[in-house]
This record gives sequence, structure tokens and C-alpha cells, in this order.
Amino acid sequence: MCYAIPGRVVGVVEGVAEIDYFGERKRALTDSAQVAVGDFVYAQAGLVVKKISEAEANAVQGYWEKALPELREKDRELSSRSVGVNNWLEGVVNRAFAGAPPSAAEVEGLLRLDSPSDLSSLYSASNELRRLKLNNSCCVHAIIEFSNNCVNDCAYCGIRRSNAGMSRYKMSVSEVVSAADYACNKLGFKSLVLQAGEGAYSVAELVETVENVKKACGTVVFISVGELASEDYAALWEVGARGVLIRFETSDPTLYAELHSGQELGDRLECIRDCRRQGYLIASGGLLGLPGQSLASIARDILLAKELGTEMFSFGPFIPHPGTPLASCAKPSLNSVLKVLAASRLVELESKILVTTALEKIAPDGRRRGFMSGANSFMISATPSDYLSKYDLYPGKSLRDEVVAEVRAVQEFLKGIGRAPTDFGV
Ligand code: SAM
Repeated sequence: MCYAIPGRVVGVVEGVAEIDYFGERKRALTDSAQVAVGDFVYAQAGLVVKKISEAEANAVQGYWEKALPELREKDRELSSRSVGVNNWLEGVVNRAFAGAPPSAAEVEGLLRLDSPSDLSSLYSASNELRRLKLNNSCCVHAIIEFSNNCVNDCAYCGIRRSNAGMSRYKMSVSEVVSAADYACNKLGFKSLVLQAGEGAYSVAELVETVENVKKACGTVVFISVGELASEDYAALWEVGARGVLIRFETSDPTLYAELHSGQELGDRLECIRDCRRQGYLIASGGLLGLPGQSLASIARDILLAKELGTEMFSFGPFIPHPGTPLASCAKPSLNSVLKVLAASRLVELESKILVTTALEKIAPDGRRRGFMSGANSFMISATPSDYLSKYDLYPGKSLRDEVVAEVRAVQEFLKGIGRAPTDFGV
């Protein structure tokens, strides 16, 4: 099982390796890996993850050498654009592709589209742009939700501090390391997200966790624990964290303050900007369908994600949780989320765009529809099953006895739509 295709290093200049994948060349930062021309490596998220032997590379490449062209052909067949009759929409798409991304008013216009033919034109155009810019590359990350303790009281979130009905857990360092070891060394993931509620761990515990996970797995580690001081993120960088998954949730400061008791949007944004300055890869975005959220506000969210230098756009539906003050709100529609994924592609042609697991909770074919609307990234929970049932952010979150079954299902799904885990490069 493999979530990255190995490539051969054909050049190294000032910390950037040029890697050949069956004739297609991508660049990746060497980071802490010592690599030279001729080495075989795995790269992920634009970083060299690890060096492997030629024999190991050959064994895996044998499969991909045959599979990759077939997958690309399937992707090409499935992503042909259906040009519609809406001249305004065609103009926005064509200008985006020529390098002039849509303005805030145009993004809002895209989010207002609602005729089936316009939606089909928008989704297919975004999917085609994804293929023309990034080919059939996709990335699949494992996420370990290592504690549902949280000091915050976000109005929408099942693990909020004041939800007394929540059964709390906090995995020990060794439990996290063994879950990470399983995900990376047994299941083959090359990128790992470690997520917990805010304040669940001390900085010393987080540092110890990341350091040990890096030693055991050597993979790209994203940390997702909310706002930390600049020096705390610096300490996590020192021990090997390279990405931060931190949504700003909404770009509307008033709505943000209403939903996050005692917190301010400005602090969250400053934390994200600081992480970016430190060199972290940023995965960010917001919740869609919050009460009081307008389409103009969501259009600004998409542009804010771009302005923050977001590497991976993470926009997903808000799903009301019974243990929160927003229990009686309605879920957003599938199309309202797909429009955001598609518009994000027009705004940032080369971005990684995540299909969140929450999207599958509002429609059984949400994953496929998301990938057909410009998305190209996915996360699979590798949280041990004893804990997974307790990481209850929203109702219906998957409870899998076997993460392996989910991994197989995702592999089959990606194969069925012609996608392959080649690194996107930098
Ligand atoms: N503490 C970290 C942070 O603040 O980013 C990570 C944990 S937080 C629970 C992870 C994400 O869950 C949030 O960014 C939020 O967007 C999402 N989330 C929380 N409640 C949700 C809900 N009811 N529906 C969908 N997503 C939700």
C-alpha cells in the first residue's frame, strides 16, 4: 500500500531536489534529508520525505510505470469541460485560466449560480483546470485525532469545553507514536496530521510527541492544535513539524467573535501569518453554512485563504451537533460546498483543495463530487478506533473498526477516477 510514488533525483541545487517521475519532473525541498543525484526518494507536500534503496524503488515503480499512464488517461476522459451558455461564467473561467483570478464580486457571483447547467459548467471547468495545472496528482494524508479535550468553547463544535455530555480522552505520547507508526510504516502514509482540541497538551508534551513521531516515521508532520505562541511553533519546527492545519473558520470578525467566546479573528490570523513566516506549509479555510454567514462573506473567506498563502484549502460544511448551542441549525447543501471548492480552484489554480470528511456527511457521493469539482486532496482518520468514536465534532462522523478498510476504499475510489499520489512539488 503506498500513498506516494517514488522518484529519482536528477539534480540538487541549494536545498531543492529535482525529481523525475517517469518523465514528469517535480521540485521538492530537501529539508533535513541528505540526497544526491541518482538517489530514489519519496516526496510529499513538496518536501523530500525519505531516501529509499533502488531495489525498494523498483518494486514500487514497477506497478506505477504501468498504472500511471492508464490513470492519467482515465482522468483526462472524466475531466473534459462542458462549455455552457453563460457568457459571464465562461469569461470568469477563461480569465482565471489566463492568470487573472476572479475578484471578490465575481467569486460571490460564482457562489450565487444555481441553474443545473451553470453548476455543471463551473464544476467541470474547475476540474479541467485542476488537471491542466496539476495533472492527476492527489495527496492523501492520515489524521490522528489525539485528544478531544479543549479549552475553547466554539459554538459549533461538539468537543467544546462546555459540552458536558462528551466523554473525554487524551492519548499518551507512546499511543500517538504507535498510531503514527501504524499509519506510516504499515499503511504507507507519507504525510500525517496530528490534531487535538486547543490546550489539550502542554507545549513540552507536543514537542515530545512530534519529535518521537518524526523519529519513528520520518514523514511530513502537520500539527493542528489551534493557536500557540510564536516561540511554541518555533519549538515544534525544531523537532520536525513542517505544516500547520489551522482554519480561520470565517473572515467576518463579528461572526467570528459571536461563535468563539472570548476569542478574536485577528489573533487567529496573526498566528497563521506567523506560522507562514516561520516556513510552515499552511492548510486553512473555513466552515460553510454557519448561521449569519453571507455569500459575500464566504467569497472573502476564499480570497483570505489565498492571501494567507494557504497551501491546502480546507473548506467544509458546518454540521450541527446536538451538544452545542447551534444544534437546531440546518446543514448546508452539497452544491453550496461544491461551489466553494470550484471557486477556490479558479482563485488559486495550483492549490491543493481538500475534500473534508464532513462533506460525505451531507451527501453519500460528496467525496466523488468534490473531486469532480476541482478538489485533489483527502484525509483518512488513523485514530485508534477506541478513541475515534469520542472525537465527536459533528454527528455521523465515521466510526471505523478498521482503518485498513477505509484506506482500501479510498485507493479504489482514486483509481476509479484516475488519480495518483505523485507529489505536487513546489
Ligand atoms: N484545536 C484545533 C483548531 O482549533 O484548529 C483543531 C481541532 S478543531 C475541533 C478542528 C476543526 O473542526 C475546526 O477547525 C472546525 O472547522 C471543525 N469543526 C468543529 N465543529 C464542526 C462541526 N460542527 N461541523 C464541521 N466541522 C467542525
